Parts: sequence; C-alpha cells; structure tokens
Amino acid sequence: MSKSFCSLVWNHQYVHTNGSFKYCCATNDKILDKKGIPFHINNSSFDSVWNSDHMKNTRLEMIKGKTIPACVKCNEQEEQGYKSMRSVDNKEDYIRETNADGSVNHSPHSAEIHFGNLCNLKCKMCSQNYSNQIGKELLEMGKDDPEWLNWVMKQSGNVNNWTNNLSVEYKWFKNPKIAHKLVEWISKNVTELSILGGEPTIIPEFWKIFEHCEQKGTLTGKEVTIVTNLTNINPRVKTWLPKLENWTIWASIDGIGERTEYIRYPSNWNKIVENLNFYKSILKEKSNGKIVFSPAISILNIDQLDDLLLWQLEFAEGKFNNNYNLSWMAQVWYPKMLNYDVAPNDYRLKIAEKLEKNKHKFDDTDEEFKNYYNSHITNLQQDKIEAKERKHLLESFVKYNDQQDRFRGKTTWRKLIPELEQSITKYLSQS
Ligand code: SF4
Repeated sequence: MSKSFCSLVWNHQYVHTNGSFKYCCATNDKILDKKGIPFHINNSSFDSVWNSDHMKNTRLEMIKGKTIPACVKCNEQEEQGYKSMRSVDNKEDYIRETNADGSVNHSPHSAEIHFGNLCNLKCKMCSQNYSNQIGKELLEMGKDDPEWLNWVMKQSGNVNNWTNNLSVEYKWFKNPKIAHKLVEWISKNVTELSILGGEPTIIPEFWKIFEHCEQKGTLTGKEVTIVTNLTNINPRVKTWLPKLENWTIWASIDGIGERTEYIRYPSNWNKIVENLNFYKSILKEKSNGKIVFSPAISILNIDQLDDLLLWQLEFAEGKFNNNYNLSWMAQVWYPKMLNYDVAPNDYRLKIAEKLEKNKHKFDDTDEEFKNYYNSHITNLQQDKIEAKERKHLLESFVKYNDQQDRFRGKTTWRKLIPELEQSITKYLSQS
C-alpha cells in the first residue's frame, strides 16, 4: 500500500486568496503549468488545472508510493505520530478510475475557496494575505513613524505575519467573468464546499454562489461550510441554508466582549452575538446545520479560556452536539509574540492554576474537549522559551501593541489584561 497516497488529489480543489491553486490547505506549494508557472483562476479553466501535467504526475507518483515534496507537512505530522490531513477514502476506487496518464474523468466534488483577502477586520494573529486592512493600517501608521514600520518589517514573523507586501489586495473575483466561471463550476460539480476569505460575507460575489445554485436547483445535496468573523450576515441565508444537505458556520470568536473586540478589531461583540443568534434561529427551524466555535488561543486570551468555553457551552444550551460544536482550541504560533508560551512564568502558572480550578465545570464534556483543555494547562506549566528570546518577544509585544493601541485610540491591552501587564513589566525590569 502506498503511504504517499492522498484522496484529496482525486476529489478536492483548493483556490488560494491570490487566485492560485493548491492540492489542499495543508501544502504551500502551488499547482504549476508546463512552464513551471502557477496556474491562476484568471487565465485557467478548472478542468485544465485538474488534469494538468502537474496533477496527473502527482497522482501517478502517489499510486507508485513516491514521496510528494508538497505533502511535507502531512508526512512530518505522521512521522511524529500525529494525525495528518491525508485522506485515503475510496483509495482503491480512485486508483482504478485513474487513466494511464494520471488523468481522471471526474471533477472534484470537494473544494475550498478563499475569496481573496478583502476583510473588514484587522485581527492580531492575521496578516495582509488574509485581510487587506492589516497592511493598510501598518502603512498608515508608518507615515507618522517610518522607523517603527521599518522595525515591524524586520520583525516579520515575530510581531506580524508575512510583512513583505503590505498593500497587497487579491480581488480576482471582482471580474464578472471569473466570478461566473467559479459559481457555475461550484454549482455543477461541488457537493462539499468550504468558503473562507478574507471575510466572505462582506463580498457580494460570494453570495452569488447561493443565488446561482438556487436558480439552477443545485443547493440540494450540497454541504457548505462558511468560515466567518460573524460581523455581517445576509438575511437571505434564511431561505438558502435549509435547502442545503447541511451547513456549518465556523465561528471565529476569541474572547468575550471587549476582549474579542480587541483581538478581532474593530468587531462589535453585541453584533457578533446577534448574528450568532440569527444562525441559531435558522437551526431551530431546521436542524441541518451546525455552529462550530473555533477559538485561536493566544497570550491575549488564554486567561479567558475557561470563561469563553463556558459562554460557548451556554450558547450551545449546555451541551456540544450535532448542532453546536467546538473545533480544536488551536494555540497561536505566529506571530511569535502572541504565543502564550512567551508569557513570563509567574503569569503562565497563575493562569494554569485558574484553568485547573475551573476544570470541574467541564466534567460533562467529551474526552476530546477535556484533552484540549488539559493540554493548555500542561503547556502553561512548561517553560519552553529561552530567556533571551522571551525578553525579545515580550519587548516586541509591548512596543507593537502600545503603538497600535495609541493609533487606534480605543482600549489597550494594558487596560484589558492588567495582570499580564504587571507580569510583563516586572519581568522586563528584572531581565
Ligand atoms: S497528503 Fe496532505 S498535503 Fe498532500 S494532498 Fe493530502 S492533505 Fe494535502
């Protein structure tokens, strides 16, 4: 049996924010044409990418069991004993259906589409590749303080992700021909669709998928996942969602009240709750959907993890089930200064103690939930960062957030998390 085989290359198509194509979200490598240039949605048909030499060769190599360099992340995860994104569903059928040259006669039934990088928020852990607002704001701040902007660029990865091209905007879907090509392809072929951005719900072309599929009668049978920051809704989903086979709202909420407003600036907590309740009301009428909470856990919210989870459980009416769920509670790794491992020891231990004390409140949750919760406590108790790096990252954290807070003129991390402020101030004064 081939260990490199992955069904996604037989059934899935991924469109990146910039309009290029990949096998899936687990790889950074793009699908290339004969000249070694990445295919782009603006000038390539879906069929030509799907049965391109690149895809055909990958399928043949996978059948032979050859290692696929683009799949390095999955390979590494498996070597370390973790589950990867690799799928072997219907493997034998797919191999049988593959033509001698590696082409296949079917189109992918699954797709992940990133609708450019237009977004209305500037979340702390995001980058301009996924929100055009982030780069714009940094450039604006740089007008008053070019030295600071220069420092941010040099600290790419530490304080902000990928600061290479701050003014980049991916708007390929604004071309009506491209948008039409996409919605028609989805309508005809895709039954499992995941939509991300940017923020898809602020993009009119995104809603055209629903309009078009409704007109063509192809909403039935589709499973649609929308990853959204919940700042915006379209009342028409009330008629669209019940027609789907099933739907999932992947809700990006990282804190309660002011905290999520700060992390996911400039969101409005009351509006988020109102929109969540809107989806809940659709669920009450027909239970073919699911709201999945997907918190990103960082130094800015680890202290609220128990409160946030309790709030989410309460929203789920006391129990995660088929209609309300929680994805993994992912720890933020980048930018590095947001990783809670970076926090001073006294702060991390104090938070671990708080989470431990409230552990019993989650006695009724399943093992997976408890494992995630406990793994954060264990992480907090470990000292994983060298003193020199901790000092550098904490200084960077203070410099970046203080400047950004001043520029935004709203609340500050110092006001919102005073215990963190005290701990960092003490640590930096002693180191
Ligand atoms: S093995 Fe991993 S990286 Fe490769 S196609 Fe499958 S999911 Fe994507």
